[in-house]
Amino acid sequence: MKLYLASGNAHKAQEMNALAAASGVDVEIISARAVGGMPPAEEDTGTFIGNARKKALALKAALPPEAWVLADDSGLCVDFLGGAPGVESAYYAGAQGDGAANLKKLVEVMREVPAGRRGAFFTCVLLLAGPAGAEQIFEGRCAGALLTAPRGGAGFGYDPLFMPAGYSQSFAELGDAIKNGLSHRGRAWAQLAEWLRRPVVAG
Ligand code: IMP
Repeated sequence: MKLYLASGNAHKAQEMNALAAASGVDVEIISARAVGGMPPAEEDTGTFIGNARKKALALKAALPPEAWVLADDSGLCVDFLGGAPGVESAYYAGAQGDGAANLKKLVEVMREVPAGRRGAFFTCVLLLAGPAGAEQIFEGRCAGALLTAPRGGAGFGYDPLFMPAGYSQSFAELGDAIKNGLSHRGRAWAQLAEWLRRPVVAG
């Protein structure tokens, strides 16, 4: 099965390809870039599902009706900040969507917050949009805590600041293979893979 990925984020595409390969399902991820680029889709719905749906439908409109599109909307929810940056994670430090600036801002905002109050979780919505309005939604979460300073060089976004529960290294130190096994995106993908493997009853 071909899934067209409604994202212009090269890191997400890379993770999605690795997750697809590791899951062993017969799926080919095709980047938006390969089909003319990701059409503009403002992420203004205020929810992960709403934003994922908007991205999926924006790309779907540019493809043949039988195409299946996969969209990801994800973010980091910090307990001390009442769930922020959450759905605004990509634009925390401004509309330009600068990952390094977002990370720097979060380090600053959390600078004085003590160890016991630095809980956070990543969340990811994967949404499949198919023919005749078909839609499937999968959600994954990964809980952990924020470090006081970024550590590690792998991954993207807030990875250097986030330490998953049960580990003493950040996502950016753990590296892609370990991250994908326990991350919000990995958990959402595991459900998606299960759905793809389901027996399809004819008629
Ligand atoms: P969006 O889903 O395109 O709105 O962007 C999600 C934003 O959340 C990214 O730009 C990152 O800032 C952050 N984010 C989502 N998933 C991850 C992750 O796996 N690691 C680090 N940051 C992430």
